[in-house]
Amino acid sequence: MKEIILVKDGEIALKGLNRRTFEDILIKNIRHRIADLGPFEIRSAQSTIYVTPLSEGIDLEEAVERIRKVFGIACFSRACVTEKDMDAINRAAAEYLAEELESVSTFKVEAKRSDKKFPFRSPDICMQTGGYLLEKYPHLTVDVHHPDVVVTVEVRDFGAYVRGGVQPGAGGIPVGSSGHAAVLISGGIDSPVAAYMMAKRGLRLTAFHFASPPYTSERAEQKVCELLEKVSEYSGGIRMLTVPFTKIQEQIREHCPEELFTIIMRRVMVKISNRLAQKFACTALITGESLGQVASQTIHAIACTDAAAELPVFRPLIGMDKDEIIAISRKIDTFDISIQPYEDCCTVFTPRHPRTKPVLKFVEQAESKVDWEPLIEEAVENVSLTKIGYREKL
Ligand code: ATP
Ligand code: MG
Repeated sequence: MKEIILVKDGEIALKGLNRRTFEDILIKNIRHRIADLGPFEIRSAQSTIYVTPLSEGIDLEEAVERIRKVFGIACFSRACVTEKDMDAINRAAAEYLAEELESVSTFKVEAKRSDKKFPFRSPDICMQTGGYLLEKYPHLTVDVHHPDVVVTVEVRDFGAYVRGGVQPGAGGIPVGSSGHAAVLISGGIDSPVAAYMMAKRGLRLTAFHFASPPYTSERAEQKVCELLEKVSEYSGGIRMLTVPFTKIQEQIREHCPEELFTIIMRRVMVKISNRLAQKFACTALITGESLGQVASQTIHAIACTDAAAELPVFRPLIGMDKDEIIAISRKIDTFDISIQPYEDCCTVFTPRHPRTKPVLKFVEQAESKVDWEPLIEEAVENVSLTKIGYREKL
C-alpha cells in the first residue's frame, strides 16, 4: 500500500500575503530534514503539503519522526493513496486503518471532494465508506459528535487518500522566517531550552560557546555539541563557534574584584558576541537567563549585561520557573545531557559572594584595569567552527 505524509501548516496560515514565502521556507525545511532518507516529492496544494516518497523502502517512520520536529506545522498525518474508485477507497480504509479501528469503539467518516468529476458527493462517500467499515468491524458504532477516530477520505485531482487520526505538529513558525540569531550556549539546562524556544519563533541559530581550557575539559565542550545536536533536530543545522576564553578569565581573576567576576565575565562574553554576530550575520543574541535565578540574573545584573550589548538580547526563559524549564528540557531530550557534571567556564571562577546589585559605573571602573580590546580581538580571531546537525544531502 502506498503511503504519504500530509502536513498542515500552522500559524503561517495567518500571515496573509507572506503566506507563500513562509510556506516555501517550510517546504525547504522539510526537504532538508528528510533529504538523507531518500527521494521525496514535496508539494503544496489547497493548504496541505504532500510529502510523497518516490522510491521503495524509504523509512517513512523515521520521516514522520523528523517531520514531527519541524516548526511551522500545526498537525500532520500519514495517509494511504488509492485509486479514485469507491470500492478501492473502502477496502483501503478497512485495511490501512485496521489497527486503529480495532482498538476504538466509535468513528465517523469525513469526506472532501475537490475533484468535482468524481461521481459521488462528499455525503455519499461518507455513507458508503461508513457502511463498509460498520460491516467489516461490527464492534464499531458511528458517533458524529465525539468519535474516537475520524476516518478522512479525500478525493483530489491527482488521487484519493485515506487517513485516520491526525497528530500534533511542533507548532511555531518555520526556522529562517524570522532571521538569524546567536545563542550563547553553556552546558547547563537553560540555554539549550532558550535556543529551542527561539528557533520555534522562526530564528535560524548559530551558537557561541566560551571555553576555558585547561580549566574546562574537552569533554565539557563535547557535552555542548551533544546538546546542540538535540536542539538541531528542531532547529535544523547549527554552526557552533567555540571561543577561547582562558586568557580573559585569568585577566579578570587577576585584576578585578572577586564579587564582580561573574558580571564582568558575562559582559566580556557579550562584547565578543557583538563582534562575532556581525561577522556571522546574526542580528540578535539569545541567552538562557531567568529573572532572579542566580546572582548574575537580577535586574541590576541584567542591566549591566545589556549595557554591553549592541544587539537585542532575547531571553525567552526570563519569566519561567526552573520546573517549567526542566519540563521543556525533558521534552526536547536535553535534560539528561545537561545534568552530566562537567565544569563550565562560569563555574570555574565563581565568586564566593557575587554582587547581586552591581552598579554599571563601578563595574566599568573595575573593568578599566584591563586593556580588553586586544584580548577580545584575539578571541574573535581564534574561534573554531563545528557544524552540528547538518545531515542534509541535497
Ligand atoms: P545554563 O543552564 O544555560 O548554563 P544557568 O542558569 O547555569 O544557565 P548562567 O551559568 O548564569 O546560568 O548563565 C546564564 C546564561 O549565560 C546562559 O543561559 C547562557 O546563555 C550564557 N552562558 C553561560 N555560560 C556560557 C558559556 N560558557 N558559553 C556561552 N554562553 C554562556
Ligand atoms: Mg550555566
